[in-house]
Amino acid sequence: RIVYVNGDYLPEEEAKVSVFDRGFLMADGVYEVTSVLGGKILDFDGHAARLSRSLGELQMDAPCSDEELLAMFRELVARNEIEDGMVYLQVTRGNPGDRDFAFPPAGTAPTIVAFTQNKPGLAENPVAKTGIKVISIPDIRWGRRDIKTVQLLYPSMGKMMAKAAGADDAWMVEDGAVTEGTSNNAYIVKDGVIITRQLSEDILHGITRAAVLKFAAEAQMKIEERPFTIEEAQGADEAFITSASAFVMPVIEIDGTAIGSGTVGPVATRLREIYLAESLATAI
Ligand code: PMP
Repeated sequence: RIVYVNGDYLPEEEAKVSVFDRGFLMADGVYEVTSVLGGKILDFDGHAARLSRSLGELQMDAPCSDEELLAMFRELVARNEIEDGMVYLQVTRGNPGDRDFAFPPAGTAPTIVAFTQNKPGLAENPVAKTGIKVISIPDIRWGRRDIKTVQLLYPSMGKMMAKAAGADDAWMVEDGAVTEGTSNNAYIVKDGVIITRQLSEDILHGITRAAVLKFAAEAQMKIEERPFTIEEAQGADEAFITSASAFVMPVIEIDGTAIGSGTVGPVATRLREIYLAESLATAI
């Protein structure tokens, strides 16, 4: 596989980052995951805009323009012959030489790494037909979840807790309400209304969330942006998650309780179809 590191396209074994990189030592960096379908990049503008916002919130300069970023993504997709898959991009505060809590001086070069993952048939994922099971876990992450940092230890632990419980993923709960999934936004459907937590510093502002809510509104579906509890979710007609890599994925069980009929519901199915069709149509 050919990966990108600081301006160079290299075989993965030759790509190197300093052991002093603040991404490695302090999780001082941000990332984006963007899906590729039919060799084209989905929702690029949204991901590029969120990257700029994450960098800005951490007082890091943009490492390149959006046009340069898109050209780099396309180059990686082409060199690795990706039809379906994803591009992972990470920007860290770089390598000042010595470990220090203080940020390095302005102008210190960031570290930019990107690579592709090949996932043939990504849009036809059979799991979308059967749905996933989630458990609930406390949300003990930091208070700026709107910044897409590489601090993913707790979400990783959450996935392991889910696995140990025979489930696929975990929804995190704070002050009695669901914040989001370990790597996705969380939704329930009741009496035809799509309910998902409102945007704030408590959750990541999902690019897929924004797209799906836009398409749902265009299709005259009713949307309520507000917190909901696990109990409310267990009594809902449907539940689902969204993310750049899972698109819209139905949830059929929460903490062992079947949602609705316990099978994949019509709203999640329709939203998945609309999201895939619309985002493919605008893929670049
Ligand atoms: N919430 C969290 C915590 C995430 O990690 C992600 C995906 N990285 C999402 C939501 C979904 O965001 P997106 O639709 O932009 O992939």
